[in-house]
Amino acid sequence: MTNGNAGIGSPRAAVVAMPSYKPGKDAKQTEAELGISDAIKLASNENPLEPLPEIIDAIAAASRRINRYADHRAAAMRSVIAEWVGLPVDHVTVGAGSSAILHRIVAAYVDAGDEVLFPWRSFEVYPVYTKLLDGEAVTVPLVEQTADLDGLLGAITDRTKLVMIANPNNPTGTAVSTAELAEFCAGVPDRVVVVLDEAYFEFVDPSLGNSITDILPHHRNVVVTRTFSKAQGLAGLRVGYAFGDPQIITAIDKTQLPFAVSMVAQAAAVSAVRHHSQIMERVEAIVKERDRVIDEVRSWRRVTVPDSQANFIYLPVGERSAEVFTTMERDGVVIRLFDGLGVRITISTPEENDRMLASLDRAL
Ligand SMILES: *Cc1c(COP(=O)(O)O)cnc(C)c1O
Repeated sequence: MTNGNAGIGSPRAAVVAMPSYKPGKDAKQTEAELGISDAIKLASNENPLEPLPEIIDAIAAASRRINRYADHRAAAMRSVIAEWVGLPVDHVTVGAGSSAILHRIVAAYVDAGDEVLFPWRSFEVYPVYTKLLDGEAVTVPLVEQTADLDGLLGAITDRTKLVMIANPNNPTGTAVSTAELAEFCAGVPDRVVVVLDEAYFEFVDPSLGNSITDILPHHRNVVVTRTFSKAQGLAGLRVGYAFGDPQIITAIDKTQLPFAVSMVAQAAAVSAVRHHSQIMERVEAIVKERDRVIDEVRSWRRVTVPDSQANFIYLPVGERSAEVFTTMERDGVVIRLFDGLGVRITISTPEENDRMLASLDRAL
């Protein structure tokens, strides 16, 4: 028997206090709201192209077996990834998107009252996952839109369990080198796990280093997450991976929900690894477009644009953010608003980027 909305179950205080997740608006929603057509979505750092045909074929083939459960351990996918990145297979785990792996890392390490340290502003899910586990989010402000590694070191306490660093940072796009990160890690006690969230790894200038060779061999308390969502264009399928010391991998593995990475997602991931050179050709086109867009916006001299190593740019327009967002939305260009701080814009095809630039020019 129910009585209005009163007293139907009682969620934990951490859940009651939590705002509901607000995903970026999609193009169709904006079209309906504003009575326009042809809207483009540059709000969620997705890949503008559909996946490679070879990956679509692998997905289609795997879909015929989905009357069965997937391999919970994803043995084939793990070993393909291990060989690809050059690590033993016990150093690799997989998840339903790298954000699910981040959640599992917090679930594996954070008890009530434990501190999770991260730069801010950064990826939205870090404070959400922390608070869901009754952990304490401890933040260190960005300096020049970039993670302040010295500031983070200074903020480590006896209660710190995890340090989470998105590199490149979301939403600012800025990156630090593996040399800087290795120096940082040298100052972090082994009882603290450092999580490097490398969702945009493929878009980063290789001269900034690779955590696999530059960090992992020297710092066993580091775990790196990557994803097939961005470069490989599999955001809707939910598949990511992580690597690090087997002790950390074992702990994360225990928090995996049964069969979380679907059979179709595992097959797509294996295919994506096999076709990595084709994927990198597409990535290079986006990187070229990113640099073109940044040069163009900087040439207007109306806003500073931080260097971006990702597939998006960040414009710290402060108080004008909401107005820039709304003006562009009316043009059918949907970007991501960080109210009072700035806007984040995903790099897309040359045509969509031109449309975005024309709209941004007007909005600024
Ligand atoms: C997009 C993104 C992810 C990846 O999300 P998936 O769950 O793998 O789709 C992780 N971290 C950051 C910082 C991101 O921007």
